[in-house]
Amino acid sequence: MGLGQGQGRDYLMTSDAQWAFDAYEAVRARLPETTYPTESRHVESLGDLTGDFDVFLLDAFGVLNIGESAIPGAPESIAALQKSGAYVAVVSNAAGYPKRLLLDRYTRLGFNIAPENILTSREVLLAALKTRPRRKWGLMASQAFGMEELEHLGAVFLEEDPQIYDDVEEFLFFGSAEWTKERQSLLEASLTKNPRPVLVGNPDIVAPREGGLSREPGYFAHSLADRTGVEPQFFGKPFGNAFDMALAKVSGVEKSRMVMVGDTLHTDILGGQAAGVATALITGHGALKGMDANDAIKRSAIVPHFIMLNP
Ligand SMILES: [Mg+2]
Repeated sequence: MGLGQGQGRDYLMTSDAQWAFDAYEAVRARLPETTYPTESRHVESLGDLTGDFDVFLLDAFGVLNIGESAIPGAPESIAALQKSGAYVAVVSNAAGYPKRLLLDRYTRLGFNIAPENILTSREVLLAALKTRPRRKWGLMASQAFGMEELEHLGAVFLEEDPQIYDDVEEFLFFGSAEWTKERQSLLEASLTKNPRPVLVGNPDIVAPREGGLSREPGYFAHSLADRTGVEPQFFGKPFGNAFDMALAKVSGVEKSRMVMVGDTLHTDILGGQAAGVATALITGHGALKGMDANDAIKRSAIVPHFIMLNP
């Protein structure tokens, strides 16, 4: 079963971690393939990895925060890593937000992370667009944030007017907070008539929020692909373009001295492994919370180097 054929759940929120896991497994053919360690080492928290690595690449949702709340202990844990002299960077698929808002959020939640040490898939997609011919672009993005960082694209928001969907040359997915079932239907109909490129700035299927898991741009992109045959181009974890950009900032450091830390097997761990760095899975928050992590690892065969309950 493809992603487009859901089972009548709420369209925008789901609290079912198992559903999300199955959704990622269903689209495995669109994710990179790589190799994994034969077994994982269980550790208490990130503090146990101090000294083993010089570079810590941290996922955000499920590692630093859940929605607008910090994960208990995470600010202290990250501060201790920074104090140890390690390079700490955030590599997030939170493409929907201008960086200013992400910085405000991390500061508010008690993290002290410099703007240049935060890389979002929004930047990965925007960097890719610079290398491509200018097109008439249609945006899946939140009007609430306006055109901040996107002004130069000359793009139009995708809303209720079907003509806009037919008129644009390429589709850019940044955030799905204001996306609706009706808009998805308009996009699907327009792409069916006239297939065009779909560039996805957030490959995540879901993100952990206070009220459960929200469906993210990746969800809608995979659903479109299942139903129209238009294969999306993804920018962000687990794809190499995100890790290429993140690792470019720490050139000169051996990959064996870098670790990607995340809560999602199919994005953080799969992507980190494909990029050739070590991987650490958080199981007590985010994607695997409420699931049997060992069972998830066994069933997906996505094996991290380290497993910890809390960051
Ligand atoms: Mg996460």
